[in-house]
Formats: sequence, structure tokens, C-alpha cells
Amino acid sequence: MRKKIIAANWKMNMTQGESEAFITTFVREIGDFDAVEIVLVPPFTSIPKVSELLTQTQNIKLGAQNMYWERSGAFTGEISPAMLRELFVRYVVLGHSERRALFGETDEIINRKMLAAYEQVLRPILCIGETLPQRERGEVESVLRQQLHGSLAKVDAKELHETVIAYEPVWAIGTGKTASAAQAQEAHAFIRKTLGEISDKATAEKVRIQYGGSVKPDNARELLSQPDIDGALVGGASLDPRSFAQIVQAGAPNE
Ligand code: PEP
Repeated sequence: MRKKIIAANWKMNMTQGESEAFITTFVREIGDFDAVEIVLVPPFTSIPKVSELLTQTQNIKLGAQNMYWERSGAFTGEISPAMLRELFVRYVVLGHSERRALFGETDEIINRKMLAAYEQVLRPILCIGETLPQRERGEVESVLRQQLHGSLAKVDAKELHETVIAYEPVWAIGTGKTASAAQAQEAHAFIRKTLGEISDKATAEKVRIQYGGSVKPDNARELLSQPDIDGALVGGASLDPRSFAQIVQAGAPNE
């Protein structure tokens, strides 16, 4: 059984004060709910505050939105994996479509970051997904295959097991358009099959694959009940603690 993992990608939102207010309300809403692994992914400047506040909880983990692959040095504006570890960050989102489109990140760059993350015992949340023109040209599988092979080069089975894949169709991010549960399940099954080819079938069965793209309280349950959807990466709806709590609770296994 793969435990579901639901992460809040706050992007360039949430000051320290806003993060504190969020956590107060969110913790009140979810209590000690731990049927799902919960990860908050604040911007860098709020990580120390969120890290400190999360020491008072058992069931919420901390993630970062990006990092550089070098340990230290003349890389103005960058943050190293060790700097994140020092703040008790466990997960790092890599290859988000906004980083690919706005900041020129390639699969090769993402791969270097993945390998550096494992070295510092950080678990990558690797984002992949096709654009609308790619979907319309029937290229979904070839795009996903290429992103997986490129980003996961030289990643061994143990590291892959620790990795979370986030399938995020670019046309569904921040647009209010969600992939249907059937479309998402089809892509997730393809991703799992490809992971089996890259590594081995048993490892692929253990990897958690999140869906991301306009997940909201009213569509979360249907998406999360698909056999190969093991969680969600939530942008817009994760900025509201009550909405995010409802999405997290929709991930609880059915009795
Ligand atoms: C995201 O940025 O990872 C995302 C899925 O955003 P949204 O939920 O706003 O579509």
C-alpha cells in the first residue's frame, strides 16, 4: 500500500506572518490526522519560520520549491541542499513547469539537482507534464517518457523509491482546467510503466505519483480514488488553510 502524499506548493506567496496564520488554522482543522503524508512547501524566506512552527506538530513535513546542485560557492541567489537540510527540509520540488518555462530548466539541469538532493538525503518531488499543444499533437507519452528518462538518469532503485513524481499537465496548472480522473489515471499508469522500464517493476509499484493541476476540494476525492494517483501537488487551493485541509482529508483511504 502506498501512503498518499499531499503537498502545498505556495509558490511566491506567504510571508512569515501569513505562514504562521495558515498553520494555526490548518492545524486546528486537521488535528492529528495522519492517514495521508502532508507536506508544506513555502518560499525560501518562510522556511525557517515554518520549520520552527512544525516542531510542535507530528504529522506535517517541510519541503522546498527549488535548490541548486552545488554544495557552496559563488552562485549568487542560489540555495544548496545542505542549507535546506539544516532547516529540517525533507522534500524538494524539482522541475516544476514554471521553472522549466520561466527559468530555462532542462531535464539535464533537473537531473543534476536530483542527484544532489539524494546526496543530502532530500527526497525530490519531480514534476513532469505536457503542454496543451503537445497533448493536441498526441505527444503525451513521448513527452513524459523523455522527461522521466532525462531527469532520472543515473538514479538507482533505492533513490527512485524515495522519489515522488508529480504529474502536472501544464494546461491544468492555475487555469481551473483539471484533467479528468480518467485522463489523469491513464497518464499515471503510463508513468508507472515507464518507471518499471527505467528501474524495475517492483520499485515502480512503490513510487508515489501525485497529480497536480487545479486540484480543489470538490474534485480531490475523485482524482485521489484512482488506482495510480497517490496524492496531489496543490498550488492555488493550498493557500487557503480550510481548502487545503479538505483536500488532505479527501485523501484518506476509504473504510
Ligand atoms: C502547481 O503549481 O503545482 C499547481 C498544481 O498549481 P494549481 O493547483 O494552482 O493548478
